[in-house]
Amino acid sequence: MQYIFIADLHANLEAFNQLRSALAEADQIIFLGDLVGYGPNPNECIERLKTLKIQGIVGNHDQAVLGEMELNWFTEAAQAAILWTQAVVNPDNLTYLKMLPLMLETLDFSAVHGSLRDPLREYITQLSEAAATFNLMTKPLLFIGHSHVPLVIYQTVDGSLDGHLLADGEVVDTSLHPKVIINPGGVGQPRDGDPRASYGIYDTDLHQFTLHRIDYDFKITQEKMRRAGLPLILSERLAYGR
Ligand code: ZN
Repeated sequence: MQYIFIADLHANLEAFNQLRSALAEADQIIFLGDLVGYGPNPNECIERLKTLKIQGIVGNHDQAVLGEMELNWFTEAAQAAILWTQAVVNPDNLTYLKMLPLMLETLDFSAVHGSLRDPLREYITQLSEAAATFNLMTKPLLFIGHSHVPLVIYQTVDGSLDGHLLADGEVVDTSLHPKVIINPGGVGQPRDGDPRASYGIYDTDLHQFTLHRIDYDFKITQEKMRRAGLPLILSERLAYGR
C-alpha cells in the first residue's frame, strides 16, 4: 500500500495543484495539518481537499483560524494572514477544519502536526527536540509536519538518536531502526532553502519512504497574495523557500 503525505498546504493552490497526479496515484492520502494560513486560497484548498479521500489532522494555523489558539503565539505576519483568512473563509469550510482531529493512528503509523508532547506548538527540527516524542511513541513510525523542513530522525537499537534533512528522491528504509520520525516537508511554504513543494510517499510493503520535490509557479501565488494585501514578507519567502 502506498500512502502519500502532504503537510502545510497553507492555502497555496498552485503548489497543491501540482501534486494532482501524485495524489491520484496513491492508495491513501494523509494530510498532516495547516491547510490554511499564509496563502491566498483557503476556500479553494479546503474544497479541493474535501473532494479527495484523505485522512487528515489539524495544524496550529487551522486552529487559530477557528479561534481556538491564541494569536500572540504567532509572528506578526502570520497573525495578519490568520485574520485575513478568518474574514474570507466560508462557514462550510470552517466546519471542515473543525472536524480535523489532533492525531491520527493507522495500523502502520501515527501522525501529529507538531509533536506528541505538544501536538500544535512544539517543533521537532533537531535530535534534542525529538527525545520526548520518541518516549511517547507507541508505534515504530510517526509522521509530523509544522517545521516545513523535510527530515528523518531515528532511534537506534542502543537508544541514541540520529537523523538528517531529506533531499529530493532520497529513500528512507524505516525497517532499519526501532523508531522513526519523518517530516515530508511543506507543500505550500517550504523552508529548507528549496522553493519547490515537498511531499513524500510511504510504501508499507517495502517499508520505504521516498521524499519528492516538485516545481510550481510561485509567481502566481505571490501575485494573488499581493493583491489580497497579505504581508509582503510572506509572498517573498516563497521564492527562496525560507
Ligand atoms: Zn505550517
